[in-house]
Amino acid sequence: MATVLIIGRPNVGKSTLFNRLVGGRRAIVDDLPGVTRDFTVGRVNWQQRTFQLVDTCGLFENPENIVEEKMKEVTLELLSEGDLILFVVDGRFGLTSADQVLADYLRKQRIEVIFVANKVENPESFYSNMGNEIFSLGFGDPIKISAAHGLNIDLLLDEIFERL
Ligand code: GDP
Ligand code: MG
Repeated sequence: MATVLIIGRPNVGKSTLFNRLVGGRRAIVDDLPGVTRDFTVGRVNWQQRTFQLVDTCGLFENPENIVEEKMKEVTLELLSEGDLILFVVDGRFGLTSADQVLADYLRKQRIEVIFVANKVENPESFYSNMGNEIFSLGFGDPIKISAAHGLNIDLLLDEIFERL
């Protein structure tokens, strides 16, 4: 079965997206970043197709250590297990240096990435909020979703199955 990994700095809504796609309550969602520590794996069934989804949880809760420690050990291994990455940023509050570090890292990997901006409840104001900053990550124009409100989830699933 194909494996899709949700990657992103803390608090962008990875677990909310995981729960939205998998259904049920297999990942802990909390207001406090870094609450979940292990990987959570679930299965997504959609239009008679299926893939395995991994919420990478607390892997990136310590931005200054991303490259030095965690990404080099656990994540490298994990990334090689994945067929596709959902790289999630916060489309509401904007980007941080941790997003840039992750983006730089992911661009160097030979793995497919779908760029996702979450928390976009108002797509009309997305570009006036985020400006051209969003393009600085090097992944082009993101798919704009709201995991919490279920917006554009079908679009994301279409894109996932197209790339798998
Ligand atoms: P994670 O640390 O990346 O796993 O992020 P969480 O899924 O725990 O979400 C972090 C916070 O963002 C929580 O307060 C969520 O309720 C909120 N959140 C997640 N998705 C959305 C969304 O689509 N829109 C809005 N407005 N908030 C969201
Ligand atoms: Mg989480």
